[in-house]
Amino acid sequence: MLSYRHGFHAGNHADVLKHLTLLAVLEQLQRKQKPYYYLDTHAGAALYALDSAWAQQTQEAKRGILPLWDQAQQGQKLPPLVQTYIQHLQVLNPGSTSLHAYPGSPYLAAMHSREQDTLVALELHSQEIDQLKMNLCQAPHKVQVHHRDALEGLVALMPPVPRRGCVLIDPAYEVKSEYQSLLPKVQKALALWPQGCFMLWMPILASQAHLQLIKGARKLSGAHSGILCYELELPDIEQGMYASALVLINPPWGLEALLDPALDAYQQALEHAHMRAHWKKVWLQQPSAA
Ligand code: SAM
Repeated sequence: MLSYRHGFHAGNHADVLKHLTLLAVLEQLQRKQKPYYYLDTHAGAALYALDSAWAQQTQEAKRGILPLWDQAQQGQKLPPLVQTYIQHLQVLNPGSTSLHAYPGSPYLAAMHSREQDTLVALELHSQEIDQLKMNLCQAPHKVQVHHRDALEGLVALMPPVPRRGCVLIDPAYEVKSEYQSLLPKVQKALALWPQGCFMLWMPILASQAHLQLIKGARKLSGAHSGILCYELELPDIEQGMYASALVLINPPWGLEALLDPALDAYQQALEHAHMRAHWKKVWLQQPSAA
C-alpha cells in the first residue's frame, strides 16, 4: 500500500529543481508552434497549501521555494525562467506577498501549456487520485488523468501523439524495488519514443542509493541528444534528503542557457537566507554526432 503524501514535502528544494527544469523543457518545446505531449507519471495531488498542517509539520518550503519567493517579493532582478515560475505562483496567490498555494508538476504544466498541447497525468494512490482530479478541474488547461501505475503507463502510452514532448518521472521511492524497476521501463519507453525527452528525478540520501540509477542511466541506449544530469545540494541538511538529481534523457536544445542562470539565482537566494547550496551538471552521455 502506498503511504507517501507529497503534501508534507511540497515546495521543498527538490521541487524547485524539478519544477524549474520542467518549465525550462516546456519553454524550449514552445519555441515551435507545433503541439507537444506531456506525461506526468507520478502526478501527486497537483495543488498544495504551504500553510496546511502537513506542510507546517516539516516546514520544508523554508529551505525550498520560500527563499526564492522572498527574493522576488524584495524586487530582486531574477533570470527569465525564475520570473516565469514566480508569475505562475503569483497567479495562484493573487495580491499576496506570502506564498500559500503551491502548484505540483501537473498543475504547473497546465499553467504553462497552450491550447494545442496534450497533457496526461498518472497517479496510483487512492486518495491522491481524488485530490488530483478535483484540483485539476481548476487548472487553466485540460489534463487527462489516469488512475494507473506509473511504469505500466509509461510504456503503454508510448509513442504518444503528437510525437514532440516530454515525460516527468518523479517516484516517491518508498518501494525500494523502484531503484531496480525504473530504468528497464525507461529503456523500453525510450526505444518506443526515441525523440522524447525523459526527466527522471531521484533523491540523494546518505545511503547514496541514487548512484545505481546514475550508473544505469549511463548505459541507456538510444538517447540521441545525450543524457544530462543536474544536481542540487544543501550540505547543511543533516537528516534525510540533502540533495537531489534530475536526469534528462534527450534534453531539448537551449535548455542549459535557460536553466543554468535560474539555478544560479536559486543558489544565491538560498545563500541569502543563510543556507549553503551548490548545483552542478554533468553529461552522463554526450549527444551523438549524427
Ligand atoms: N510530481 C509531483 C510534483 O512534482 O508535484 C510529485 C509526485 S510525488 C513525489 C510521487 C507521487 O507518485 C505520489 O503522489 C505517489 O502517490 C505516486 N506514486 C507512487 N507510486 C506510484 C505508482 N506506482 N504509480 C503511479 N503513481 C505512484
